[in-house]
Amino acid sequence: MEKTKKDYYEILGVSRNATKEEIKQAYRRLAKKYHPDMNPENRKEAEEKFKEISEAYEVLMDDEKRRLYDLYGHEGVSQKFGPGGFSWEHFTHADEWRDIFGSSFDPFDFLKRFFEEETIFDIWERPFREKKRKVVGGNIRVKMKLTLEDIAEGKEKTFELERYEKCPICEGSGGKGKITCSLCKGKGEIQQIQRSAFTQMIKITTCPNCGGSGKVIKETCKSCGGEGRIKKRKIFKIRIPQEIVENNYLVLKGEGHYNEGGKGDIIIEFEEIPHPLFLRKGANLMVEVPIHYTTALIGGEIEVPTLEGNKKIKINPGIRDGQIIRIKELGLKTSKGRGDLLVKIKIFFPTNLSEEEKNLLKELQKISHEHPPRPHRPQED
Ligand SMILES: [Zn+2]
Ligand SMILES: [Zn+2]
Repeated sequence: MEKTKKDYYEILGVSRNATKEEIKQAYRRLAKKYHPDMNPENRKEAEEKFKEISEAYEVLMDDEKRRLYDLYGHEGVSQKFGPGGFSWEHFTHADEWRDIFGSSFDPFDFLKRFFEEETIFDIWERPFREKKRKVVGGNIRVKMKLTLEDIAEGKEKTFELERYEKCPICEGSGGKGKITCSLCKGKGEIQQIQRSAFTQMIKITTCPNCGGSGKVIKETCKSCGGEGRIKKRKIFKIRIPQEIVENNYLVLKGEGHYNEGGKGDIIIEFEEIPHPLFLRKGANLMVEVPIHYTTALIGGEIEVPTLEGNKKIKINPGIRDGQIIRIKELGLKTSKGRGDLLVKIKIFFPTNLSEEEKNLLKELQKISHEHPPRPHRPQED
């Protein structure tokens, strides 16, 4: 006669209406307590206990199994487990062990050492197998030199580069047909047995041949050599956006290298070629315009350069050196509006006066009614 099995709720020490969270907490606590390595004195007993709590956990965490158990007891769930009853192949929470025992915990090694479980590798869905992470294609950085006119007029620019694209022959798969990996025999992992005098350790690593998928391409694509992508030269045409005034880069999303995980971007970094006349200050442009000292004194009209040709402006008498005249909306266009042209006045004094000029200036000095102020403490700037 089969020995009477203990009640699952009792095993985990939870009430019959325990929530999943409560069941989980109970299992975590007991799993730590009955880990056979923690119980070297009575290892066999700990092993039994560990399997017992895992069986209870498997049943009570599964809505259908728990319902059957609540209705019919052990008899109700026995059909779910088959003639041999619960065994490790039925356990679906092995991936939680790493949360409980730490990331270095090796469940295969664990079952092999304590439960002599040989077949587990073929039965489990391998929650621990490291899935080969799909790599996203890289970004491509492009440096582009721009003149002020390029920016001001939103000119069209072309550039050429070499990038990886999806192989058109195999459509990225790397070849035709799939066959079972010969190295790992489709398991996706390699077992290495390390023996010493008393112990046998089994180390499991992801198969390097198939990357853990268990399958390899039958016929490698000749076009890409199985890589699934090929290098191609491509010419790009872009219109310089007005936003360049604020940001000095532009991102072309999804135009970078292709890889199985997705495409990277093209990041264009702009380098501004200094303009011979204009200094750029954001959307504003600045130009320095020297004027004759007589113009500064009596006023007049001068010509200033703009991006759209020369423009005449008025100079009021008495303008000071370094004074800035702002000409509205002759700067750069941006999405927020157009910048200004800042004309910095530089008063030009001749250094090589003729005799006639000197004589006239002497006359001027005599009749001048306005005189410079007295010496004073300079203003701090
Ligand atoms: Zn190909
Ligand atoms: Zn393999």
